[in-house]
Amino acid sequence: MKNIMPTYGRLDINLVKGSGAYVYDKDGKEYLDFCSGIAVNALGHCHPALVFALKEQADVLWHTSNIFKSDKAEALAEKLCDASFADLVFFCNSGAEAVEGVIKTIRKHFHDKGLENKNRIITFDGAFHGRTIGTISATFKNTEGFAPVLGGFDQAVFNDLESVKAIINENTAGILVEPIQGEGGVVPASEEFLQGLRTLCDEHNILLAFDEVQSGMGRAGTLWAHQSYGVEPDVMAVAKGLGGGFPIGAILATTHASSGMVAGTHGSTFGGNPLAIAVATAVFDIVKTDSFLENVHKVGAYMREKLRTLNSVKLVRGKGLFIGIMFNDDLKNTDVLKSCVDNGLLVVKAGENCLRFLSPLIINKSHADEAVNKLQKAISSKTISSTEG
Ligand code: PLP
Repeated sequence: MKNIMPTYGRLDINLVKGSGAYVYDKDGKEYLDFCSGIAVNALGHCHPALVFALKEQADVLWHTSNIFKSDKAEALAEKLCDASFADLVFFCNSGAEAVEGVIKTIRKHFHDKGLENKNRIITFDGAFHGRTIGTISATFKNTEGFAPVLGGFDQAVFNDLESVKAIINENTAGILVEPIQGEGGVVPASEEFLQGLRTLCDEHNILLAFDEVQSGMGRAGTLWAHQSYGVEPDVMAVAKGLGGGFPIGAILATTHASSGMVAGTHGSTFGGNPLAIAVATAVFDIVKTDSFLENVHKVGAYMREKLRTLNSVKLVRGKGLFIGIMFNDDLKNTDVLKSCVDNGLLVVKAGENCLRFLSPLIINKSHADEAVNKLQKAISSKTISSTEG
């Protein structure tokens, strides 16, 4: 890795092949992949429908530019709008880019209404929105050494409506929230909180923005996590699972919220690239079906129940296959994670002493059993080694 910037603490595993819910390292060792590229490979590895879509598109056209029309991008945008609150879509390449676009959409909306000072956005502790200057500024995290940060954000406490009320003022333009915090440790918003935010936004002429980069595209057992809350946003960021492993992100918005996003206000060279659109369309057509989402819901509930029976597991949180577990204080998530890897299970850490289980959404109960057994072994070996001192 001598020529790659060392910005990640990488595990010493070199993955070279994937199939379904499994990946293989260069020595041929098999891992059950409950990392899924951090909630990306919604359909697992090398799903035949995605391989077909990518190859078929690769044979005819790779890239043009957004200065030309695209029937296929238009068709995917229509599907996304039909399946959501949104009227309009902007395609980009990643989650952080989608959130950046959400921030611009909110600011421009009020600017064009002559309310230039109504430009502040409320975000939450524990949130994660990406690693660009704008998104690290939004979370007040990971900013050290990167000053000057972007202004215009105010932070409230997640799941605490009173803390939001306390900082709303006439310059508040937007509230940006993950319906289920991912990096923060798989913390679902309470119904009361999310519904309360919608009411506050309506009362104060504020745009409600959801970051569903991680929670969206079926991860939480509904196409969008917010659908189980009975609340709709005005604008939303989507990425990760949308491309099933091919880079793509999207801003979804109502016509009203995105009224300022007219010609010349935003762009992306690669956004909505034909290859990305082809794969994302194939992902969407599978994920959006009731039977697919029902399976995510069912297997997720089954897995959470099994995880709750494990010693050393203090708390299991999440919805669908968006699952986080907290350990008793004598166990460290990083130690368990390493032990999981040794036992052939890939998981992801998050929040404070939390491990995330982000399996592909195609798994069945036997995959869930296998993961829980491997985790049990990993925990046992850690508990034994810690009692042995
Ligand atoms: N928003 C949320 C909720 C995320 O979980 C992430 C990534 O983990 C991002 C935004 C940033 O996405 P990306 O890494 O694709 O820029």
